[in-house]
Amino acid sequence: MAEIKFEATKTFKEKPDVSSIGFGTHFSDYMFEMNYNREDGWHDPKIVPYHDISVSPANTTLHYGQAIFEGMKAFRQQDGKIVIFRTLDHLNRLNNSARLLDIPNVDINTVHQGLKKLIEIEKEWVPAKIGQSLYIRPFIFATDPYLGVSVSDTYKLLIILSPVAAYYAHGFAPVKIMVEDHYVRAVPGGLGEAKTPANYAASLHAGLVAHEKGYDQTLWLDGVERKYIEEVGSMNILFKIKGEIVTPSLCGSILGGITRKTVLAVAKEWGIPVSERRITIDEVCEAYKNGELDEVFGSGTAAVISPVGLLSYKGQDMIINEGKIGSFSQKMFDHITGLQSGLIKDTQGFIEG
Ligand code: PMP
Repeated sequence: MAEIKFEATKTFKEKPDVSSIGFGTHFSDYMFEMNYNREDGWHDPKIVPYHDISVSPANTTLHYGQAIFEGMKAFRQQDGKIVIFRTLDHLNRLNNSARLLDIPNVDINTVHQGLKKLIEIEKEWVPAKIGQSLYIRPFIFATDPYLGVSVSDTYKLLIILSPVAAYYAHGFAPVKIMVEDHYVRAVPGGLGEAKTPANYAASLHAGLVAHEKGYDQTLWLDGVERKYIEEVGSMNILFKIKGEIVTPSLCGSILGGITRKTVLAVAKEWGIPVSERRITIDEVCEAYKNGELDEVFGSGTAAVISPVGLLSYKGQDMIINEGKIGSFSQKMFDHITGLQSGLIKDTQGFIEG
């Protein structure tokens, strides 16, 4: 493994009051950096002062979007210990996204060591209150200054850190969701299972339309028949139907969420039946009509669990669990946040540190 160099900063930033800064607005003093070219491969891993970067106006990422990213969190536990949640799962997913975008795979060990060193240097930036965290954003983008549409020869990997407030600043609360039956986020054979900017660009307009209509997020259906359920906003979606946890299977157009994987593992540990399969919006409507739709919730790094209180499909509103937080959603939220804060013992190896 290449040695990770360190360049000290001359100026330290003032740390913000995390409770009032929302998400992704402030960045720590340092970042991790590594570059790629065809001759040297990934080389020169280093931790350097956080700084703006300059790129050519012909930078290929700006034009054709050959880029990928990850999102994970470090927490300060009750006893002061700093931990990261499921680091290797996130780094392996980064390499899976790389494969789909023809970006050269990174050496997981080097990035892992670099990330751990960065968090160690920046430990003062990990906020202390329950629910607050230090968001970790690794990303890779193509750097060729070239307007031809082709796979880049050069890349940059950066890891930046941003302290974030608790997602539920006003308490854990259900959201209103609009089932989107016109726009789609991803298609079979496309980039849906990669964490790449294109998927987020594809979701912005539909998200805005849903907001204008008074909903918090969109529920995405499949890109072929608008029949099968895929994801909710930028989260995975799970249903509790007749006591069973059902979630769409990872069919290629869905991001394999690390929180989704955690929820399924914990539910299994609790002896609750889980099923990963294709599920149609009609099946959900039918379960609702029959009084069998117990709970609906999203899962993702930002919110952990996001209970759904209302689902609107073709102008019909379904009020889930009387618009209240379901007991499974609450228990799962408490469990995962408990693991992260150290209040609950980690028996499945999710916590690193
Ligand atoms: N789907 C999409 C499209 C996402 O952006 C995210 C957030 N990364 C998720 C699902 C949930 O993934 P995770 O649990 O790994 O955060």
